[in-house]
Amino acid sequence: MDYKRLIDLHVHTDNSPDGHHAAMLICETAVAKGLRAVAFTDHCEVDVYFDDKYDRVVRQSYFEVARAKSAYRGNLLVLQGVELAQPTYDEELALKIIDARNYDMIIGSIHNLRGESDFYYTRDFEGMDIDSMLKAYFRELAVLADWGQFDTLAHLTYPLRYFYARNNISVDMEEYACEVDEILKLLAENHIALEINTAGLRQPIKKLAPEFPIVKRFRELGGKYITIGSDAHYAEHLAAGFDDALEVAQEAGFDCVTLFQNRDPVEIPIG
Ligand SMILES: [Zn+2]
Ligand SMILES: [Zn+2]
Repeated sequence: MDYKRLIDLHVHTDNSPDGHHAAMLICETAVAKGLRAVAFTDHCEVDVYFDDKYDRVVRQSYFEVARAKSAYRGNLLVLQGVELAQPTYDEELALKIIDARNYDMIIGSIHNLRGESDFYYTRDFEGMDIDSMLKAYFRELAVLADWGQFDTLAHLTYPLRYFYARNNISVDMEEYACEVDEILKLLAENHIALEINTAGLRQPIKKLAPEFPIVKRFRELGGKYITIGSDAHYAEHLAAGFDDALEVAQEAGFDCVTLFQNRDPVEIPIG
């Protein structure tokens, strides 16, 4: 793989509760691997912003990434981002968070249903109504895509990795084709990118989020931009699984991946 072309647009530092490495160390690893660009996108869970003190960590993350950006200027393109989760659960606050800083890119994501905890924290899905949970999750993604104040949609199909890891539950995504189409259409209309997230390849489910059929469908429905993110929480996971993700993007008909600078899309040819 030509690492020189690689652009990892979903990376967490130790300013995320589950992150392990500082921005500087991650940049050093990125340069050693020959990456071209890294977007730091620490967690900002909008629905628990004050309760879980995200106001402080988001500020700290922005400051440390700005420092790394200037330290690595000329060697690595460092992009300042944030993973804004559940912004539609408090839109007014979400807009304030976005406007407070000069972000290069905003990742939009949903980790939990309204009033519920992150799917990640559910240890056992036995006896739960998986179908209604998924329908509610896809409805929230449609609301998010319709709101549209972000640049790329993270890890579509996120709950599936936990259904599989906890209870070996596999989901046939064809049963949710209508729900997914609605999300993809809204993304395309709002010129928002679809992320191919490679974290699932490192988990028991061993799959990209989303997989090829959804990426292809996004293209068919007029989707223009694809981003690729490792969702690394350790420096060694930078650009992990990118061969698979790039292959899926190309087979789905995308010639470029996209990065965002000052919230503007910049297309980078894959080939
Ligand atoms: Zn996420
Ligand atoms: Zn993430």
